[in-house]
Amino acid sequence: MNFINGEYRIGRSQNSFQNISPVNGAVISVVNEASESDVDDAVKAAKAALNGSWGTMPLTERLDLVTAIVGGIQERFNDFLEAEVADTGKPVSLASHLDIPRGAANFEIFADIMRNHHDECFRMPTPDGTGALNYTISKPKGVIGIICPWNLPLLLMTWKAGPALACGNTVVVKPSEETPSTAALLGEVMNNVGVPNGVYNVVQGAGPGSTGEFLTKHPDVDAITFTGETRTGETILQNAAVGVRDVSFELGGKNPAIVFADCNIDKAIEGTIRSAFANCGQVCLGTERVYVERPIFDKFVNLLKEGAESLVCGPPQDEDTSLGPLISKEHQEKVLTYYKMAAKEGAKIITGGGVPEIDGLSDGAWIEPTIWTGLPEKSAVVREEIFGPCCHIAPFEHEDEVIVMANDTPYGLACSIWTEDLTRAHRVAPQMEVGICWINSWFLRDLRTPFGGSKQSGIGREGGNYSLEFYTEISNVCIKL
Ligand code: NAD
Repeated sequence: MNFINGEYRIGRSQNSFQNISPVNGAVISVVNEASESDVDDAVKAAKAALNGSWGTMPLTERLDLVTAIVGGIQERFNDFLEAEVADTGKPVSLASHLDIPRGAANFEIFADIMRNHHDECFRMPTPDGTGALNYTISKPKGVIGIICPWNLPLLLMTWKAGPALACGNTVVVKPSEETPSTAALLGEVMNNVGVPNGVYNVVQGAGPGSTGEFLTKHPDVDAITFTGETRTGETILQNAAVGVRDVSFELGGKNPAIVFADCNIDKAIEGTIRSAFANCGQVCLGTERVYVERPIFDKFVNLLKEGAESLVCGPPQDEDTSLGPLISKEHQEKVLTYYKMAAKEGAKIITGGGVPEIDGLSDGAWIEPTIWTGLPEKSAVVREEIFGPCCHIAPFEHEDEVIVMANDTPYGLACSIWTEDLTRAHRVAPQMEVGICWINSWFLRDLRTPFGGSKQSGIGREGGNYSLEFYTEISNVCIKL
């Protein structure tokens, strides 16, 4: 459902889409798309709230409300969990530890950061000797359009809605058409905790020629924050250019891991199993290229194979399940195209490469975790983002050589370096062309740190004060004394 001005509304568009379970192909719900006029209503409601009680609410009261959203999500934890698991098929064990708790925490952390935020003050001399005083005022940017992907639906949406609301903005959220549920459910929480109507709005639908395009082209949307594919980012950037609206983009990646012979191999294997296969490989920060120093190459490949083969594909509710399906049959087809391409281009398939057979779930979007070796660096499998549970492992001889190989990509989101030699770690990390470089870890996130991608992996940084920068407009007041 759409959630506009504090009310659930069936979209007025003639189009609807089925929300299909990736676990077994069953129809979960039918969603009416928001029409252009629904999107317009949502933006108008958001603008009215800015000019109404939300805009005039004292900071502490606003931040108390933002913090109350956390409790509201926690009270409905099982409803959020059920909805997220139904939409994505991800294991309950993962969503209950990551998606829902982190999805809630995003409101708390940014309310706390905003509570401690202070403006700046500069005194300056003037020729007449009396001087001047400058101080900054942080104001909300306005109506923020939030366009979300399907891989971590609640978590990645609140990563933007949390700071946007803490900074006093209002939002219109467009969830992915694959995962419409948790963003809609959050509307109930907003009403329950007393967030004024129009502050949080949700419009359902697809991207081009639909809700996503209507929202990003709407002239009263003051800034657009988007997580998704690089190509989609290019289109949204063109729309944002009209009216010179600000953007924050978190885009695709083809992230490398570099494993030096001096690493702790147990840690490197454990980390790479997570980074390549967690969430069925559908994590923007995931590893799809692994470079291993020659002396430990064979050992690493064998151990990673063992790890991949120990993963259990199965229904989300099973405690043993470590791997869910891909998000959709369409995405399964895309990933399988790369699996076939790898085989055709002469990859050695270390494990996987196909579709697992799971009793009674043959209509789901299941896929085997897959490891290849032996492909040239120019292969599309090694260069393009696949977004599935797969990685290519290549050997390297020297540090200088592997830095060049790892950086030879249009993307620049994340990398992991595995070494017990700290001098080497500090020498290599600054040379990596990425937004986040992990040493002996992966997905370890302090939410105060800058998050984003370089090159074609993004524009801008979010997280901590970096989010405040995007979601506020700073004015300087200069007083001649
Ligand atoms: P996508 O780009 O296909 O879709 C993302 C959202 O954009 C969806 O809501 C979609 O409906 C909307 N959209 C599509 N075309 C649009 C248009 N023309 N105008 C407005 N909206 C439009 O991405 P996806 O398949 O949902 O997600 C997977 C991608 O997201 C991967 O490339 C992944 O790397 C990336 N991602 C990046 C990060 C990050 O932090 N860098 C995090 C998660 C996912």
